[in-house]
Amino acid sequence: FQGVVAVDGPSGSGKSTVSRRLAEALDAAYLDTGAMYRAATWAVLQAGVDPHDADGVLKVVEAAQIEIGTDPAAPHVTVDGIGVDAPIRGPQVTAAVSAVAAVPGVRAMLVGAQRAIIAAAGAIVVEGRDIGTAVAPDATLKVYLTADVTERARRRSQETEADQHATAADLLRRDAHDSGRKADPLRQADDAVELDTTALSIDEVVAALLKLLAG
Ligand code: C5P
Repeated sequence: FQGVVAVDGPSGSGKSTVSRRLAEALDAAYLDTGAMYRAATWAVLQAGVDPHDADGVLKVVEAAQIEIGTDPAAPHVTVDGIGVDAPIRGPQVTAAVSAVAAVPGVRAMLVGAQRAIIAAAGAIVVEGRDIGTAVAPDATLKVYLTADVTERARRRSQETEADQHATAADLLRRDAHDSGRKADPLRQADDAVELDTTALSIDEVVAALLKLLAG
């Protein structure tokens, strides 16, 4: 396989696991763009800057050196050389990431970095919210994964060991925040294939995507 697979969808849709498995099956690289927004958010919180202070946020993110690996077997992200894989999944970063990701200058920087990584890879699976619309509009295949909010909350709370109802509330809040933008890049691309994963196993989703790529 040569080319770009764009995997978009809300949190808990199965994006991360599916994208990593698909990249492994295709012997392709893997890019988790959400991890980059989370790493930027970690830097903002670490600097003591209010995530809603757009100017302050942009200054921190401009100065931060965010590096992300593309090995699907071992995803790894650093900020100024510090490994942040664990803290970027924590509740503080999760609560603040939508605000940081809403800063246009932050998006411009990270989208630029993502395009450079994609251009350097011959084959890559890229997951996020705006991959099919903004980051890689010419992707070989665009997929939009969805799932019922109850199922998404169940999956997320398993990952984080958090209460499922609190997780559902948080997911809905982030969904609303993430899709509340004007000229919204965080929408489903018109030419994306939508796949509802509510009743599907990871293996079934990966198999469906491999079939789409083959056909
Ligand atoms: O996918 P994940 O849940 O890790 O993404 C965290 C947050 O980063 C999302 O809620 C969204 O606010 C932001 N994000 C984004 N654009 C992307 C990926 C993530 O705005 N391509």
